[in-house]
Amino acid sequence: MNGTYHIWTIGCQMNEADSRYLASQLEALGFAETPRAEHADIAVLNTCVVRQQPEDKAVSKLLSLGDTKKNKRRMIIALMGCMVGKREAEDLAARFPFVDVFMAPSQTDALIDYVLSRDEYSHLDRTQIELADYRLPAVNREKAITAFVPITLGCSHACSYCIIPYRRGPDRSRKPEEVLSEVRSLAGQGVKEVTLLGQIVDRYGFDLDSGINLAWLLKEVAKIDGILRVRFLTSHPSYIDEELIRAVAETKKLCPYFELPFQAGSDRILESMRRGYTNAEYRQVVSNIRKIIPDASINTDVIVGYPSETEDDFMETMKLYGELKLDLAHIAKYSPRPRTVSSKMPDDVSEEEKESRLNRFDELVAKVMGENNAPMLGTVVEVLAEEFQASKGRWRGRTPQNKLVFFEHEGDCLGQLVNVKLDWTGPFSMIGRAV
Ligand code: SAH
Repeated sequence: MNGTYHIWTIGCQMNEADSRYLASQLEALGFAETPRAEHADIAVLNTCVVRQQPEDKAVSKLLSLGDTKKNKRRMIIALMGCMVGKREAEDLAARFPFVDVFMAPSQTDALIDYVLSRDEYSHLDRTQIELADYRLPAVNREKAITAFVPITLGCSHACSYCIIPYRRGPDRSRKPEEVLSEVRSLAGQGVKEVTLLGQIVDRYGFDLDSGINLAWLLKEVAKIDGILRVRFLTSHPSYIDEELIRAVAETKKLCPYFELPFQAGSDRILESMRRGYTNAEYRQVVSNIRKIIPDASINTDVIVGYPSETEDDFMETMKLYGELKLDLAHIAKYSPRPRTVSSKMPDDVSEEEKESRLNRFDELVAKVMGENNAPMLGTVVEVLAEEFQASKGRWRGRTPQNKLVFFEHEGDCLGQLVNVKLDWTGPFSMIGRAV
């Protein structure tokens, strides 16, 4: 062992995947994971700035690491993820002089270069990294049943409120061979389910001009031995198309589950957000999905308290969700972000009102999902066993629709598809036993 590392990760699945890549690179160089950043020789913060709150968390974590470093001068501190953009690097260096390396999202090489440039690590061998070939980090190796695989990096859509394009750059697709070889490697290490990732995942291949698209890639991934289930997210209502929906319907391993954010129900707000669709168009997309895949689950993202959002606008958002009876909704209070178009608008919905809308929406989601799930009581669902929860004596897994299920099963079923009869259903999870 050459030393220890710790990666603290917050934010989206893309960050989780980036942290996995970095961890496996560091392990290839001979560093071992340690559970506390303060004890590590290399401490990395993988950050999110999509709202103010995760940014504040990262800053406070970073400042505390800065304190630790005062008595631990050799410690390497690296900042990665969406806090770091091209424009921000200089500012950040002035604000946090104790940070050794700044890495933009998905760019882990800067840390590796820096580590190798330090005297105490000059004996390490960079070629080990290439040999590691998408190896899972040690903490995941025994038990990783599911994995996230980025396929489209960045985003070119420029929603008025969103900072992601500024920090992750324009959208670009990974080469299909690269994605397929990564999934093959993961399958070889025991991974059973992969989720392909993109900000607008449906735009996969648009920049590759070889005629390939997400539907094609999903079918190719589904052919890989050992992979039992394939998911993808996030879809955009203007880009998801019938070919994709049909591919999901016709390919057994592709899960009938969509992440399809609507963000708002009022056409005036949607237009100001520059989302590119109307309330009616969103409803049409949902109806197309359900015509082809009647049992599909559809999750969504919602922002409450966007500039100028009135009570009536908000009620349209509630109505859209409630009438479509969607599944999980990730609800966020609007948070103005630097350089975005909406940050120039007055943030005029009060914090109390944002909180009230968030709570009311939460209640509606619990009610609707409770009703969506109730008819499944007594039925048998197929669950991929992802983890044994020893303290509770039960297994945790998910249905193809991505619903969380806890169940009893005699003996080891990790990584297997298990038929579970449901004895209880709630809005956010279900309980049953293997049959
Ligand atoms: N690419 C995806 C989502 C990426 S960000 C899409 O097109 O929808 C994840 C979620 O964070 C968004 O769906 C949105 O609901 C929320 N979000 C993004 N910017 C935000 C902001 N400024 N304030 C509050 N929530 C925001």
